[in-house]
Amino acid sequence: MKAVVLRRFNESPVLEVVQRPERAPEGFALVEVEAAGVCYRDLLVTEGKFPRARLPVVLGHEFSGRVLQVSGDSGIREGDLVAGLPHAVCGSCEYCLTKRENLCVNRLWYGEAIDGTFREVTAVDLKTVVKVPDGVAPEAAAISSCVVGMLIHGIRDVGEAKRGERALVTGAGGGVGIHAVQVAKAIGCKVVAVTRSESKAETVRRAGADDVIVGSSFSEEAKRRWDGVDLVMECVGEPTFGESIRSLRWGGRIVLIGNVTAGTFPLPLGLVILKGLSVRGVVGSTMSTLRDALEMIARGDVRPVVRTLRLEEFAQALEALRAGAALGRFVLKP
Ligand SMILES: [Zn+2]
Ligand SMILES: [Zn+2]
Repeated sequence: MKAVVLRRFNESPVLEVVQRPERAPEGFALVEVEAAGVCYRDLLVTEGKFPRARLPVVLGHEFSGRVLQVSGDSGIREGDLVAGLPHAVCGSCEYCLTKRENLCVNRLWYGEAIDGTFREVTAVDLKTVVKVPDGVAPEAAAISSCVVGMLIHGIRDVGEAKRGERALVTGAGGGVGIHAVQVAKAIGCKVVAVTRSESKAETVRRAGADDVIVGSSFSEEAKRRWDGVDLVMECVGEPTFGESIRSLRWGGRIVLIGNVTAGTFPLPLGLVILKGLSVRGVVGSTMSTLRDALEMIARGDVRPVVRTLRLEEFAQALEALRAGAALGRFVLKP
């Protein structure tokens, strides 16, 4: 079967013919991949920014798929369409036991620690999969955890967004940002979307943003138009962080979701103290927010903005991410 394999950091991954898994390891299910989301993290893995990745590795951690083979009594049956977290968990650490599966100290990311989802058949941890509700397309289900579930966790739980608050989203035209706009709207926030690109502004507006600021200097505009914002969903990271933190009102929170350069930023400590600001990070989705995400998608509160490519076209998706040209999320279909 076909798979996208990374053999060395800073080399392009390649499409290879690999052995089809015969049986799932204990506690895992074999699924036939219906769709696999392409995440900026995949690009960072190829660039060696996650140096503990085990090479060679099949890339990809986002997926939806049909269960081919399952062992044990997990409530999942052969033929079910499932989606799941982007990693396996241990189920027994303090984070797993308190339902913060995204922080499991023994988590094994697909596409890094173990082979991932850019292949026709993949193995996924039964502890972290759920059945996809009727009416949710496989392409949408594929981004229910790493994108939508992570955003619900980031905006509602970590960011403590409340109805009526002003939320600013950076990188709002990208795969994470365009869904951050929708999740923040569904929670009841007023959403100020920031994008570098005029060509993405209309799509961002259609996704529900109350206001769109085009350009990389946005803090003055955010203050002038909105008197600052209560919450920033920082989807870009180091390049926009300075503007983001200056956009906050007193007591504001900035939730870090992505960092495209993997770079650092000198935090203005005085500003954080005097304005009572909070800087918080979020990674991945919990099982609870994964279920919420699938429900939100089923209800139509979040309408995934995806562009489907064939597995063979993975390089095109990675290149668009690298160039900042992706509008919404790419998903690959084997
Ligand atoms: Zn991802
Ligand atoms: Zn754990």
